[in-house]
Amino acid sequence: MQQKTLVMKFGGTSVGSAEALARAIQIIREAKCDWDRIVVVTSAMAGVTNLLLDSAASNAGKAHASPLQDAENKLRTKHFSAAEALIKDNAALEETKREINALIQVFVNLCEAIQILGEASPRALDAVASLGERMSLRLLTAALNEAGIKAKGVESTEFIVTNSNFQNAHPDFCVTKEKTQELLNPILEAGFIAVTTGFIGANAEGVVTTLGRGGSDYSAAIIGSVLPADEVWIWTDVDGVMTTDPKIVASAKTLAEISYSEIAELAYYGAKVLHPKTIRPIVEAGIGLRICNTFNPAHQGTRLTAKGTRNGQVVKAVTAIQKQRLVTIEGRGMLGVPGVAARAFGAVASTKTSVPLITQASSEQSICFAVPSETAENVLNALEKTFAHEIEEDDIDRVWSTDDVSIVTVVGAGMKHTPGVAGKVFSQLGNHGVNVLAIAQGSSEVSISLVVEAPDTEQAVKALHELIVESGR
Ligand code: ASP
Ligand code: MG
Repeated sequence: MQQKTLVMKFGGTSVGSAEALARAIQIIREAKCDWDRIVVVTSAMAGVTNLLLDSAASNAGKAHASPLQDAENKLRTKHFSAAEALIKDNAALEETKREINALIQVFVNLCEAIQILGEASPRALDAVASLGERMSLRLLTAALNEAGIKAKGVESTEFIVTNSNFQNAHPDFCVTKEKTQELLNPILEAGFIAVTTGFIGANAEGVVTTLGRGGSDYSAAIIGSVLPADEVWIWTDVDGVMTTDPKIVASAKTLAEISYSEIAELAYYGAKVLHPKTIRPIVEAGIGLRICNTFNPAHQGTRLTAKGTRNGQVVKAVTAIQKQRLVTIEGRGMLGVPGVAARAFGAVASTKTSVPLITQASSEQSICFAVPSETAENVLNALEKTFAHEIEEDDIDRVWSTDDVSIVTVVGAGMKHTPGVAGKVFSQLGNHGVNVLAIAQGSSEVSISLVVEAPDTEQAVKALHELIVESGR
């Protein structure tokens, strides 16, 4: 019979304390009953990556050692107290502490080097950031062995091979596949749980890289796709993907399942549950993905599916991205002139701003798009510069931006086959007195996005969430 392989990733809060680690260990113990081969991917303990990076940044360009001692103590206390609570065997405890201490020493050395140089290169920052996962790897592996679960730790820098785009490195899937199988298969075949670091890899020369903040989910997807695994489970601190933010709508529910295209819209619109890069390798490898809660393991969580099942649920989720502004370029002189949009977005790109929503009316007399509020001023300046000539000639009347707005997005693959959803969305908002400033529908027809004034955000989300309940009946 074919051996079944599971990759489980534990996020920062899931390994954030002795108590959380004990839960994670119990979850791994239970998974062992159902799965022949298990790879565990760990994040840094909650807060550690931020602490590491903040210390590095605050040491760059400063003449005097700032809170280094402080950070060092925090790191030691956090990891040591968890180790002491979980590892009773004295020799194992001492060894774990020694290894973690050595990594803390690397942190101190790196920060001192950064201080001397007066700057932190992306490469140096990756070296610093990688230490969080490297510490939790030692801690979790030792705690598993202490709990009687045979585990072997191996750093993902040994087998996830990336390019040298530090802080946002891209894996070479071919080489990674070969190395991952070569390193992990013998561990798994010998009956061990393979424990590894999320978030980090190394370039071809062996220099440590990171996959971008929050990248441990992506690590799990990479490993799952190259092994290949049958399933990847992401253990986090919420029950799964919810119909909306429960802080806005108390009756928000966890979705039992959601399709990849639906979650892609949600991820884009600010759902923090899953790193957006996770999806592609999983879809390509055709493996299962589940999001589950370390703090509520009895809950089924949310299952990701290739195709949404048609259960009559048209609208599945509502999300809002706040603190945006709408920028409008308007003028009759734009009519039929090619290249205006290209130049406009070229100008926006030059400010390194990404644009979450674009609309243009067919009159071609205006282009309107959203940008994060804090970037609006820069974007307006860049546009005025780019179109200085047109503004002078009155071909463009004005370039302006609104006050803060929110982009509210309604997601659901069922909308594709159901006429009249947009109509319902608008009448629902109208009935609740919410004014819509702009609209965009993705051509995938999986979502409709509406721009509303900031003070209307809650009301809009609440009103639209009622449609989920209705269509789910
Ligand atoms: N520890 C890394 C971060 O905080 C990666 C992760 O947790 O996914 O960004
Ligand atoms: Mg995360």
